[in-house]
Amino acid sequence: MNLHEYQAKLLFEQYDIPVPPGKPAKSVAEASKCAAELGGDSWVVKAQVHAGGRGKAGGVKLVNGNDELEEYVKSLLGTQLVTKQSGPAGNPVDCVLVSALSEIESELYLGMLVDRADRRIAVMASRAGGMDIEEVAATEPEKIFTFMVDPVMGMQNHQCRRLGFQLEFNATQQKQLIAILRSIYQLFVDKDLSLVEINPLIISKAGDLEALDAKVSVDDNALYRQADLEQWRDAAQEDEKENAAREFDLNYISLDGNIACMVNGAGLAMATMDIIKLHGGEPANFLDVGGGATKERVAEAFKLIVSDQKVEAILVNIFGGIVRCDLIAEGIIAAVKEVGVKVPVVARLEGTKVEEGKRMLEESGLAIISADDLTDAANKVVASVKGGAS
Ligand code: GDP
Ligand code: MN
Repeated sequence: MNLHEYQAKLLFEQYDIPVPPGKPAKSVAEASKCAAELGGDSWVVKAQVHAGGRGKAGGVKLVNGNDELEEYVKSLLGTQLVTKQSGPAGNPVDCVLVSALSEIESELYLGMLVDRADRRIAVMASRAGGMDIEEVAATEPEKIFTFMVDPVMGMQNHQCRRLGFQLEFNATQQKQLIAILRSIYQLFVDKDLSLVEINPLIISKAGDLEALDAKVSVDDNALYRQADLEQWRDAAQEDEKENAAREFDLNYISLDGNIACMVNGAGLAMATMDIIKLHGGEPANFLDVGGGATKERVAEAFKLIVSDQKVEAILVNIFGGIVRCDLIAEGIIAAVKEVGVKVPVVARLEGTKVEEGKRMLEESGLAIISADDLTDAANKVVASVKGGAS
């Protein structure tokens, strides 16, 4: 789960990571009040969306005076901000952050994330921060310095100091860096984060380090014990179908292809996507309805996948171990009737009560194509998609 910048900055404040003073606002009047409370006569206004690249997309602006502030906030709120990272539809701007201006000497990058290959927290930093860090990573990777934190030893001062030398910091900045790294690491561990990114971390004209931007992701699997953070979820920023799936405890991830999959068990779901690809098709989603799928959940899962405009065929692949195939068939029939599925449905059922399940599908009178095994199912579903390899 991603947090908004203003939420991430609240966490930073709690952990003594220096950020410019600022407040979120959901209306023009509120923004103007925030600005007055901050004082001064220029501020930076930032669209709060779960997508980076706002600066280049016109979602960050330095404004002078209350009129310019109000005009800009008015032009942002209620719109969709399309950035390089947002996808073509963009993300809705319901909230802006009004911050005091910081005087920037230089912009750096600082990140901490879980490195899956190493199974450790990796710390990354670069002097070439700001808006083009992805390009730096691609073309000049030697400008990014990295170290791994041993989970037993914790982060060591000598690691932080070496990073400071690599970044060519003076003694004061070294001290500030060590304090910031310690704080981020503590925050990371306390809150079960998977990513913290500060881009830019600035050196101010006065020579001090300050976090101007803040991106924080929380590990979804730990949300059950991070109730405070879970409350901060902004569903409007997330994939609609993934939200609906969460409500029914379905593991759903939207993909780019046109063949929807409904499978029980994550491993079987992965294998199903593989076999679709092997036969020349492209999966539209990953969907695991779970080992103990009920007919209601199957029906919800069906509604979810047919709500996806790009779906041209559906492959149902259920192994009846704990769950019974006849119950699954009931769910499929109910869903197909209820939502009026207009695309071909190929069903491969196997396991407990498979004969009953198959018979029910046949007798339902619905155009459900039955398949005997995985290869047969993949062949049939790929053949049923227009333009797919047959
Ligand atoms: P992003 O484009 O979504 O990553 O948004 P950022 O928060 O990183 O802002 C983009 C850019 O706006 C930064 O790289 C800065 O150059 C600039 N910026 C953001 N906040 C301030 C500020 O307080 N003062 C000044 N002078 N520039 C800022
Ligand atoms: Mn940024």
